Amino acid sequence: MSTTDPDCLFCKIASGEVPAEIVRDGERVLAFRDINPQAPTHVLVIPREHHPDAASAAGAGTGLVDEVVREAHSIAEDEGVASTGYRMVFNTGSGAGQTVFHLHCHLLGGRGLEWPPG
Ligand code: 5GP
Repeated sequence: MSTTDPDCLFCKIASGEVPAEIVRDGERVLAFRDINPQAPTHVLVIPREHHPDAASAAGAGTGLVDEVVREAHSIAEDEGVASTGYRMVFNTGSGAGQTVFHLHCHLLGGRGLEWPPG
């Protein structure tokens, strides 16, 4: 599966139709700041292609999950949170809190992060 979903918010951010504070603007992967940040660093890393979640993109053999994770780590380094520790979260399914069904990695850092998460 490739392409975009015209009804998907993150596809609209990827195309520029919906504005966002862009952090990285790559050929296959894009990153932007979360509109409702839960930590000093809260960046969403997404593929431009529409995949509903990380598992479906991985199952399709796209390599996109690898790229998203690499990009998130690189952003953590740039934001100065890599050395103190940061969290990557892929909410998967509405029961886990997923509200936007376009694969995205939450990169969270810059504060103490509790475990277990809520
Ligand atoms: P989920 O709950 O699906 O794991 O994460 C979706 C995230 O998207 C939430 O953290 C939410 O704050 C963020 N979000 C929702 N709408 C927008 C938007 O229009 N712009 C940006 N930058 N983030 C958004």
